[in-house]
Amino acid sequence: MPRNPLDSPLEHQQSLDDMRRKYRAERDKRLSVDRSDLLDLEGELAHYLDDPYLQAAPRRPIRDDVDAVVVGAGFGGLLSGAYLRKAGVNRIRLIDRAGGVGGVWYWNRYPGAMCDVESYIYLPLLEEFGYIPSDKYALGADIRAHAEMIARRYRLDADALLQTSVTGARWDEVLRRWEVSTDRGDVISTQFLVLANGALSKLKLPDLPGLETFQGHAFHTSRWDYSYTGGDARGDLTGLRDQVVGVVGTGASAVQCVPPLGRSAKHLYVFQRTPSTVAVRANRPTDPEWAQSLEPGWQYRRMVNFTTLVTGGHDDEDLVSDGWTDVYRDVLMSPKFAGLSPAEAAKAIEVADLAKMEGVRARVEQIVRDPATADALKPYYRYLCKRPAFHDEFLDAFNYPNVTLVDTQGKGLERVYEHGVVANGVKFDLDGLIFATGFEFGTLYTHRIGFDLVGRDGLKLSDKWSPGMVSLHGVTTHGFPNLLVLPGPGSQSSISVNLVHALWENAAHIGYIVRRTLEEGHRTFEVTEAAENEWVQTLLASVRDISAYLADCTPGRRNNEGRPADRSRQNVDYGKGPIAFYKLLREWRDEGSLAGITFGDLTRAKRTFARNIAPPASAGPYVKRRTGPHVKRGFRLAGKRCILCPHVRLLFGIGMPWQVVLTSAMSNARRLST
Ligand SMILES: Cc1cc2nc3c(=O)[nH]c(=O)nc-3n(C[C@H](O)[C@H](O)[C@H](O)COP(=O)(O)OP(=O)(O)OC[C@H]3O[C@@H](n4cnc5c(N)ncnc54)[C@H](O)[C@@H]3O)c2cc1C
Repeated sequence: MPRNPLDSPLEHQQSLDDMRRKYRAERDKRLSVDRSDLLDLEGELAHYLDDPYLQAAPRRPIRDDVDAVVVGAGFGGLLSGAYLRKAGVNRIRLIDRAGGVGGVWYWNRYPGAMCDVESYIYLPLLEEFGYIPSDKYALGADIRAHAEMIARRYRLDADALLQTSVTGARWDEVLRRWEVSTDRGDVISTQFLVLANGALSKLKLPDLPGLETFQGHAFHTSRWDYSYTGGDARGDLTGLRDQVVGVVGTGASAVQCVPPLGRSAKHLYVFQRTPSTVAVRANRPTDPEWAQSLEPGWQYRRMVNFTTLVTGGHDDEDLVSDGWTDVYRDVLMSPKFAGLSPAEAAKAIEVADLAKMEGVRARVEQIVRDPATADALKPYYRYLCKRPAFHDEFLDAFNYPNVTLVDTQGKGLERVYEHGVVANGVKFDLDGLIFATGFEFGTLYTHRIGFDLVGRDGLKLSDKWSPGMVSLHGVTTHGFPNLLVLPGPGSQSSISVNLVHALWENAAHIGYIVRRTLEEGHRTFEVTEAAENEWVQTLLASVRDISAYLADCTPGRRNNEGRPADRSRQNVDYGKGPIAFYKLLREWRDEGSLAGITFGDLTRAKRTFARNIAPPASAGPYVKRRTGPHVKRGFRLAGKRCILCPHVRLLFGIGMPWQVVLTSAMSNARRLST
């Protein structure tokens, strides 16, 4: 049994002091290392980005004219697409560089890939689809299949542009539309632009000398090369029987893929910089009786219950009752803390944290037989410094005779050479090198999404947001009309460990704004500067100062690799937590005036024009309404951007020189624009 420092008040001050010293020493070891980890994957390294699951199919560039472009086909993009449909939006182009939908679940197909938040609350729209995942934690393939089902149900797949990267987006003030360009030469004009690029979609490799010289098989876990390893997501990697393989990293992806690799490879070296906390997962098949007993509204209730508990709120019930809710109950909101002063509570939380971490370390000792390996796998930092991992086989994999942990004491690999890697001054010859090194996180938004946006008057989003984000609710920003952004960490919104809950709430919010814009016959909406500045002030006032906590953490994603102060203080989540944030969004919608939003100042002619685009509120998602012979919106004709003026019944192209096209071209124009 782990020793609980709370059991002995006399002992716990001593334990705390000792542990604080130990945590700081472990942090300092890692801080002293140069952690420059942003490597642009270009030239000889560009192949790391290739899609191993589907060959790129050539196609012609598309010139198109749609109602909404959604960038990113993960759950954020799919939920946005679903809510845009519910809002009456007709033509939607979902664009993703992946060859299919699912986002991270398209890319991350490594053996053992699963969600680490319970699938009954992680997979969205379960009630609507009448679907219950077969296990408490679903396999990646099942999650991807569910994403495909959402795409089909909401007809987001038919017009999707896959294997296509968005390379730019420019606001056209004359047409009042976004022009989106892609690496396939597409130019798509759209009324609304939704950015659902994902917070963990840009893979990261360590900037190692000699990386490009490695002659064996090398790939990132989000581009798993089954043609080399054999087997499938369940394991049985027959191609590795005679292979010596190295895995770089011991974070969330490594925790899941090390056991199947260990069972299959001739020898597996696991190179560790910082150990993860690995607690019990206890996955199990879904109980059919429980599934039968679920009542309408169950999924949303369960999601809210989970998010409430894991963000320090109170609920009498713990519906999910897993490692996540345990952590928060034991560490953050123990009833033991009631009635304490803030300083006493902070100390009590620290003691509870220590007890929790002692439990994690004791588990390592119980499972891993070799004492030196067990010692190296013990994490020394406070529980929430890093996203905790939950797994029942990871630690045991280090008992396999063919699995060796190479602990680098925070330094990471030194270099790569033709036939392997160097760590701790020792050469390790390898046939395969697998980078479980995660994703770019917390960097400048436009760097992460891979393109810049140019808003009104040539304003670049990178310029506007480089000193720090400015937005209303993290969703929309002044100077970029009709642009809607899905949340990620520190994006002036609010997320928690179940990211899909946040994506779902925000997708509904986006759907509402679009529906109101269309219903009221407007072509554009835009947040005022005053409203977004006010939101920034609200955020700053709501944020609890946890800089001291973060500064004490071992370097990682949460504290910007040990440099928390380098992040703009504006790039934060709403400090009162996700449940309060979703309530705030709901109240904003219920109030009805779209406070802080202005609509495009439409002329009478444009109102007529806009009505032709917008279906009535009562129309179902797929109903298309056209009154009269008018072309719906701007389009291209003979390479010119054109709009139709419904009153004079002329087509005129915009550009230099102006072009007037007689109505005799109208049938052609209609064909082009629908
Ligand atoms: C292996 C793994 C497991 C995870 N497990 C969990 C979990 O259990 N619980 C949890 O809450 N979260 C988990 N996450 C976090 C995960 O990011 C979210 O749960 C969620 O799936 C994110 O959805 P998204 O739509 O925001 O982004 P993504 O799923 O990342 O989708 C974004 C898509 O945008 C595309 N894209 C980006 N830029 C461009 C561009 N310029 N042009 C075209 N396409 C572009 C990408 O290719 C990607 O497909 C996990 C993440 C990973 C990597």
